Amino acid sequence: MKNIFTFLFISFISTSAFSQGGTWYNGDLHSHSTYSDGTSSVHDIISNAESKGFTFYVLTDHDNTYTSSPGSLLHWADTAYHSSKMILLYGDEWTTNNGHACIWNSSPYIYDSIFISNTLNDPALAAKLVKSQGGIFSINHPLNQALLWQYNYDFDFHSMEILNGPISYLLSNNDNVITDTWEPLLLSGKTITAVGGSDMHHLDDWFPSIYPNLGSPTTWVYSTQSTPAGIINGLKNGHVCISNSPTEPHLEFFADTSQNDSYDFMMGDQILDTNSVIKFKVNLLGVGSNLTFNVIKNGSLLYAQPFSISSLNPTVVFSDIPGQRSYYRIELLANNNPISWTNPIYFGYNMETHIIPTVLSDYSTVINQADIFPNPASDFIFIRNRTNEPIGINIINVYGEVVSAFQSNDDLTKVELRNLNKGIYFIKIFNFRFDGTFKVIKQ
Ligand SMILES: [Zn+2]
Repeated sequence: MKNIFTFLFISFISTSAFSQGGTWYNGDLHSHSTYSDGTSSVHDIISNAESKGFTFYVLTDHDNTYTSSPGSLLHWADTAYHSSKMILLYGDEWTTNNGHACIWNSSPYIYDSIFISNTLNDPALAAKLVKSQGGIFSINHPLNQALLWQYNYDFDFHSMEILNGPISYLLSNNDNVITDTWEPLLLSGKTITAVGGSDMHHLDDWFPSIYPNLGSPTTWVYSTQSTPAGIINGLKNGHVCISNSPTEPHLEFFADTSQNDSYDFMMGDQILDTNSVIKFKVNLLGVGSNLTFNVIKNGSLLYAQPFSISSLNPTVVFSDIPGQRSYYRIELLANNNPISWTNPIYFGYNMETHIIPTVLSDYSTVINQADIFPNPASDFIFIRNRTNEPIGINIINVYGEVVSAFQSNDDLTKVELRNLNKGIYFIKIFNFRFDGTFKVIKQ
């Protein structure tokens, strides 16, 4: 038996990062170069992205650029894929006949097994493998008739492209992912981070009002760290909003649960209590004219009339009692057309409503394959793997957030818990054949 200990690297996800003081980073999460079916070089794309004032960027060529030698994706290896002005992430587009999804990570990831999930047409497996390496799996353009998402949504994926290409395109088309796909998933109890992506394939030589150029739309990510891992964590936290370009206005959305005007929660955060009066605050960032916003609670307008907001009066406060499992999100309008979207603040979205049901059905399978001790635990636990195969391990808090994700090839894996707060955690263990979750008490 191998006894190599793997120490937990903490990518701790706070539910109230706002009070830590971070910054908004803007960039584009979906675009293509000559390494797949785009017509622009990596060099030209990076220059264009820098000239737009992006502070992060990720190139997501289709994964048919995959190569097993040297085991990473070809576009990453291009020497032009570097920038002194932007934080660069590593990504690709998982591309099958039945649907596409972006994968993002803070560093190069092992693609061999992920590519197998592509050939198997298995997005659930892809999402697991991505997550086990600390990355994000995000469904792309789910209602685009030519590139329709034909798989179900009944698996653990993190985010969804609610806007693919410029807003003018959304307004002229019927593929309204926001109301027809994203909000029904939120109402079902899933927390799905909304993102935007341009899906740019050609720089500057198309009509930018109709066809996507870089930054149409732009995704804004709030992060306390100016690093690739910081951007990935901001995305994982759902501290994200979307605007039509890198310079157009966007919104911050906060909640105060204690009536003391300290707004400790922001979009993407989850609050378990649904019965208290919540003060909400909306801040306008950037400049625009004839701006208003709507508050959407559980898919419906909370107020019939939109609020006015402007750079002269950039802050609006309102209150509500969630009353039941609820989400609130904000849509910014210019001349009555939507131009920017925040992610929701969630209330009462907890393990009972979402994660536990999928776990219990698998529980009996996993206990023959792996176990965990001691439990309760204090500074560490051991995970015993009886499968002779690599396993993915996720540590999930009671908010359903993955606080750590890693892989192990070892029979016995030591996991440090020292840096976690006391309480209940769920340790999810999985590989190709099984999937199950243990409840662990950290003392
Ligand atoms: Zn695509």
